[in-house]
Amino acid sequence: MERVKIIRYSPWLVHFNTGACNGCDIEVLTALTPLYDPERFGVKLSPSIRHGDILVVTGAVTKKSAERLKRLYDQMPDPKFVIAVGACASSGGVFAGSYAVMNGVDKVIPVDMYVPGCPPRPEAILEAIVKLLKKLENAQKEVGEVARE
Ligand code: SF4
Repeated sequence: MERVKIIRYSPWLVHFNTGACNGCDIEVLTALTPLYDPERFGVKLSPSIRHGDILVVTGAVTKKSAERLKRLYDQMPDPKFVIAVGACASSGGVFAGSYAVMNGVDKVIPVDMYVPGCPPRPEAILEAIVKLLKKLENAQKEVGEVARE
């Protein structure tokens, strides 16, 4: 029940590269520019991991970055959510099977939304964020209805 509560109507994002080639990062940063205007959905970049609500992760998660990813996740306040951006973050992508990678973010922390593509377009990244917010809103309504019954 705690996980469906969103603490703000303007969730703050934190972006972390766990070993991406930079392709997905460019698209994430583009999605956050005024051209795509994410603030119309109430979304903005957080200045600190400790204020983050949604962790946006790119890259295949190298074995070296896995510990940092887990530490960052643990530092976020509850409730917190994770979006894996791109094929590498979702499953390891072109690096899957390498001795140096974990084959995806969900091998280290729970993932709420996956964005396919190599790299995905900014529109797809924004769509994932909006879908996650919608999912939370619906879950919150259901919990509210159950509580009223
Ligand atoms: S999914 Fe493609 S663009 Fe994104 S980090 Fe992997 S190789 Fe680079």
